[in-house]
Amino acid sequence: MSAPKLPPAVAAKVREGHTLEDDPTHGLSSVRRWTCTTCGDSVLDSGPVIYGGVTERTCEESREFWARRS
Ligand SMILES: [Zn+2]
Repeated sequence: MSAPKLPPAVAAKVREGHTLEDDPTHGLSSVRRWTCTTCGDSVLDSGPVIYGGVTERTCEESREFWARRS
């Protein structure tokens, strides 16, 4: 598995514990996305805005977040 090439601005927003891999979007060509292989949450980089579950929760918190919803 190759290491994800997160831009520094994106890496700075990511909470601890996530294992992110490049997850290209289709149809949203201006948005880059990386998804955690452990919890399934993503971070999206639209240029001016970096957002997504992995910027808001640690990997452990994300696993609990999704477990409660399944
Ligand atoms: Zn995660």
